Amino acid sequence: MSYHFELDVAINAVVKASRLCRDVQNSLVSRDTVEKKDHSPVTTADLGSQAVINLELLQSFPNDPIISEEDTDTLHSHDYLKGKVLELVNAQVSNISGAQILEAIDYGTREMDYKSRFWTVDPIDGTKGFLRKEQYAIALALVEDGQVVLGVLGCPNFLVHYDRPEDGRGCLFYAVKGDGAFMQELNQDKRERIHVDSISHPQNARFVEPFEKAHASHTAHAQISSALGITTPSYRIDSQCKYAAVARGDVSVYLRLPKDKSYQEKIWDHATGCVIVHEAGGRVSDIYGKPLDFSMGRKLQNNKGVVATNGKLHEKVLNAILAHAHHLAI
Ligand code: AMP
Ligand code: MG
Repeated sequence: MSYHFELDVAINAVVKASRLCRDVQNSLVSRDTVEKKDHSPVTTADLGSQAVINLELLQSFPNDPIISEEDTDTLHSHDYLKGKVLELVNAQVSNISGAQILEAIDYGTREMDYKSRFWTVDPIDGTKGFLRKEQYAIALALVEDGQVVLGVLGCPNFLVHYDRPEDGRGCLFYAVKGDGAFMQELNQDKRERIHVDSISHPQNARFVEPFEKAHASHTAHAQISSALGITTPSYRIDSQCKYAAVARGDVSVYLRLPKDKSYQEKIWDHATGCVIVHEAGGRVSDIYGKPLDFSMGRKLQNNKGVVATNGKLHEKVLNAILAHAHHLAI
């Protein structure tokens, strides 16, 4: 299968959603954010981005299920939030009613058969980074039989070139299984193929990890990287921009060892990044080397933590984790 049509629709949806998020970030006010039941933040941009992506997908693939992170719970008790979300979505998608927008947001929360074909959406991955005006990503992936076959990642604040800040920010990364991984600037059509780096000695590697201390064990990462002889300080950024950093060869390794033993990773936090790193020539697994299994529902129930590398370093990193397992909370 070629997935040309799916890729066109997915890129269009992510570009529109990225534009919406960038507009909100430029004019963010405190009323744009509320706390969800689990105490994590959600903003008008999360909900607007999810509406735009779901509406675009449903227009072209009305029979495809969509699994997305947010729902309209918070909107019912916040009139400002609701009005702002409708306004933001109307600016990106024409001729759409308020009721259709709310229905599109909740479309992504239905239960379904995860062994079939479905889309998964993280409308803003790294909402905490978004609020700090740092890194965040808009992530869309298509999953078939538990495997990611297509992924599109919008990274509005990501440097176009890792070592040349003067070249500006805003990237779109995408991959279709078997066809390689690509990057283009968010506002342009010219794409370039991307590849992981070719570092094979771990002491020459740099690794990336979550910015938020609660999302992974920085202590465990320090132990593992020191065992591998890595001396360069870690790169700490929010969201699936970490996968983009590995796929483009900015860094060689992404570590996400669990801080909380019982935490199960969410599919929308990894599906897109996973296919992009694979197609850039890298490898993604859990901390035991098992491929990520996207057929188990909203969570990666069959996996623990995540390791993404340039491929060459993968076994070395897994061995270092295994050798330290007795010290780690895993
Ligand atoms: P990151 O920016 O890489 O830290 O990833 C952000 C994602 O971390 C959010 O979308 C959450 O779904 C997820 N998350 C929330 N709590 C945890 C946790 N305790 N451990 C791992 N990931 C988490
Ligand atoms: Mg997320």
